[in-house]
Amino acid sequence: MKRRQIINTGAIATATAALTVGCTKSNKSSSAAASLPRVRWRMTTSWTKSLGTFRGAETIANRVKEMTGGRFTITPFAAGEIVPGLQVLDAVQAGTVECGHTASYYYIGKNSALAFATSVPFGLNGQQQNTWLYHGGGIEAINKIYADFKIINFPAGNTGTQMGGWFKREIKSVADLNGLKMRIPGLGGEVMSKLGVNVQVLPGGEIYLALDRGAIDAAEWVGPYDDEKLGLHKAAQFYYYPGWWEPGATLDVLVNLDAWNKLPKEYQAIFKTAAFEANMNMLNEYDFLNSEALSRLLAGGTKLTAYSPEIMQAAQKATLEIFAQKASDNPSFKQIYEQWQKFKAQINTWNGVNELTYNNFSMSGK
Ligand code: CA
Repeated sequence: MKRRQIINTGAIATATAALTVGCTKSNKSSSAAASLPRVRWRMTTSWTKSLGTFRGAETIANRVKEMTGGRFTITPFAAGEIVPGLQVLDAVQAGTVECGHTASYYYIGKNSALAFATSVPFGLNGQQQNTWLYHGGGIEAINKIYADFKIINFPAGNTGTQMGGWFKREIKSVADLNGLKMRIPGLGGEVMSKLGVNVQVLPGGEIYLALDRGAIDAAEWVGPYDDEKLGLHKAAQFYYYPGWWEPGATLDVLVNLDAWNKLPKEYQAIFKTAAFEANMNMLNEYDFLNSEALSRLLAGGTKLTAYSPEIMQAAQKATLEIFAQKASDNPSFKQIYEQWQKFKAQINTWNGVNELTYNNFSMSGK
């Protein structure tokens, strides 16, 4: 207990000890740490605090504080506390906040290629997405786009393969989608629109009421854990899978480039490490929490339903048409798309050999 109290007195006491006790090797390094500046940042987010996505922001804040002995602190804020949830990029770009936790695909209106930073329909799963980002040139390609906004970004969370949304009635064919009102943002929404869906974009906090009151017929959010938190299972019975428009959605922490450049290199290294931990931890945590939540939902009467092959094939065809259109409209989309397609073909060849054959056997329970 006494030892813990001494440790908790913090960097100032440690630095004082270094001066009074003398220069042992460990005291020298404590003294160097104490010379680093006190930095306070604010982090706006796109999330409400109860959701798993918000934990990515908390992981970064907690780990940066711990690794700097409390000298560099970041306070995460829920959507709406500083700016609305879909204005994170704007707030970081303007320097209203130093950083923000969000999903890059909320900003495809600014540059459609930002979709690749998060997830695209029929794209990479969470593990493949991380491989592309960290080893396949992904982060470099995405940061080239963010440089136009004077922002640097780091992957800082992944939801894993999402679910395909909640429907009030069964959808068996493409014809059943015609005129259906569904909350689904981004490229997934563009694909659904091509299939006849009346696409609605609502923030997370408004989905339940809209679905419950019948203002919309269907809605997607993330997966069992977060969907249960929003109460979507109380408003619709049929829970579709898989979420083919978000097979491994990355969340990002965006940092204002001026604020980033002012950080000591030690703090930059610590921030990058904390973002990496948030990215990895969220993927694992979601898999665990979703597996528990799915059991609860099924026990409560939710009807798990697969998208028909007809719908999946029509959606994939529409996706490829949308990609071709965006590549011809936007040179940076074309550049990333071509590089990404080569990566996807290569990783699917490998994962089709090792993961797919193993998973097919292991998960079929035979
Ligand atoms: Ca989603």
